[in-house]
Amino acid sequence: MTGQYGYAGKILRVDLSSGEIACSQTAEYTDRFLGGRGIAAKIYWDEVSPQTSALDPESLLMFMTGPLAGFPGLSGSRWTVCGKSPVSAPEHFCTCNLGGSWGAQLKLAGYDGIVVRGRSDKPVYLFVQNDTVELRDASALWGRGIFEGRDTLKRELGSTVRVVACGPAGENGVLFASLLADEDASGSGGFGAVMGSKRLKAIAVRGNKKPTAANPEGLRHLADIIREYTSGGPLPLTMILRGLPPGPNMKKQVCYGCSGNGCWRETYQASDGTKGKFMCGSSMIYQGLAHKYYGKPNEVPFLATKLCDDYGLDAFGIATSITWLRRCRRAGILTDEGTGIPISEKGSLEFIQTLVKKISLREGFGDTLALGIARAANVVGGGSKELLEGMITEHMIKAEEPPGGDPRLFSPIAFFHAMEPRVARYQYAETIKPLSSWLEWVHKKEGAYVTSDVWRNVAREFFGGEIAADFSTYDGKALSAKIVQDRESAIASLILCIYVWPIMTVKNSADHVGDPALESKVLSAVTGKQVDEKGLRKIGEVIFNLERAIRVREGHRGRESDVLPEVYFNTPLETNVHDPECLLPGKNGEVISRKGEVIDRTEFERMKDEYYQLRGWDAATGLQTRKKLEELGLKEVAQDLERRKLIAVA
Ligand code: SF4
Repeated sequence: MTGQYGYAGKILRVDLSSGEIACSQTAEYTDRFLGGRGIAAKIYWDEVSPQTSALDPESLLMFMTGPLAGFPGLSGSRWTVCGKSPVSAPEHFCTCNLGGSWGAQLKLAGYDGIVVRGRSDKPVYLFVQNDTVELRDASALWGRGIFEGRDTLKRELGSTVRVVACGPAGENGVLFASLLADEDASGSGGFGAVMGSKRLKAIAVRGNKKPTAANPEGLRHLADIIREYTSGGPLPLTMILRGLPPGPNMKKQVCYGCSGNGCWRETYQASDGTKGKFMCGSSMIYQGLAHKYYGKPNEVPFLATKLCDDYGLDAFGIATSITWLRRCRRAGILTDEGTGIPISEKGSLEFIQTLVKKISLREGFGDTLALGIARAANVVGGGSKELLEGMITEHMIKAEEPPGGDPRLFSPIAFFHAMEPRVARYQYAETIKPLSSWLEWVHKKEGAYVTSDVWRNVAREFFGGEIAADFSTYDGKALSAKIVQDRESAIASLILCIYVWPIMTVKNSADHVGDPALESKVLSAVTGKQVDEKGLRKIGEVIFNLERAIRVREGHRGRESDVLPEVYFNTPLETNVHDPECLLPGKNGEVISRKGEVIDRTEFERMKDEYYQLRGWDAATGLQTRKKLEELGLKEVAQDLERRKLIAVA
């Protein structure tokens, strides 16, 4: 502990070009940017020029924890990897959020984060164990799958070491390559390619320095409350993300410091012995196709996910590739013979094996697909670009992921789609979590407790007012979107697990409404600095504004870029994964359906006006103002944007 409760106190700085290893003080950043994504955004703003390309040696790759990592019972030991994403267009600041135990081990080793710069001459891995920090030769691991690399390092360093690594896809510069850590925690955004470009195969960490809380007794009490609040069983949101029905080959595997029952994080063992985590959206990418192909539920979706993990490929990137390939084959633009990929056999094990291998090793047509579908469509031409509809926006290509929630159903999500640097899964989760429980009540599920009245009270406490609970109107949605974004920026910097946080509904309480100040109470107990709910949200607003400034500096054009794919304006909503009837609470809590609805373009623009005003930005351009940035303590950001003429003219 070097001065601050909760934090390890140091951020490790590793320059792979020179081999230099140094440390900076975390305290330099904590008051304004908390930890995790917030601190990473500040380092990025200061040190990564908009001209630096994602795969340049000077591009930074940051592995960050938050002030709550390493403490039990908080669901606060997730970690984040941040930097410039090579798969987005224009390339821009991006983040991914991982579970498991690697982040906690980094904290126990005495570091709040690792910032990697430069490019090594030969493949290396970084070994971090308390005060031992060494770059070691990884030539023997280069070209190996992640599982083999991980096992090799554990044999050498001991099984308690935790490893994050890139696979062959990252080494070969596949733009949507991912990272994989122990417990199969995976990180997307193309950071596997960034890691590979630096010739950094892996980072192995282990430590024994437990972080200290300022108020251990208070923290234990809060952990009890969190356990009590989340004791109602796995959250409805995570149940729909479950990969397979329960079976004898499944074992619960929670992240370090999980509060208990948060999700269905489980391992599965297939009949061929392949074992690993099978949960989250990635478990769903091949389920429908494989089920249809084989005519019954089977293990192929699990094997497909493990294949992506081993090669270090983002499973969502594979999902979008498959959708686009199918559309192109249907349109007669691509064929099995021309691509060397059995597209007509989609759903089979052979198809997914061929696809993943060809992309990862950049063989034949896999070399084109390795660019991600948006760039691949430019290479293929012949109408294939039009077949990307609904998968990317006109002005910003996100991290090759299928869209998250549908704004035709939940209007606040329109802001997240239009503004966030990647698919806004976490912001979306905030909306869908209480509404999944409300749907259970509508469908008269036994024990359901989120009635329309409870939902209205939740909206008042968590979304800015009761009007946010009424989906028959666009009113109140700009404010609710702003609140969600600010809160999520704080949560991603603390770093709290989004499956658990914020805790909006509580089964075992009189009014069933959670405590919106709980995050700030936990932060205060850990760090000893008194922060209330409003204060924490204000820090979130600072971080959100900093990230907006980064995006604007990297080519986002304010209001002009805050747009949605046309499909949401002109194609009526047919169904939704959560509820085919698309039911939502309307006025006075009555049940309405959004089936057949589109986003009203005029209302969307009106919501944007309102939103920019609430943010204190310029409504005409959607650009930030000097006044607001200075009020948020971001004077240096305002000055930089002003020099670049990227700030609203007073
Ligand atoms: S709820 Fe699931 S993802 Fe979140 S910390 Fe617990 S085990 Fe990890």
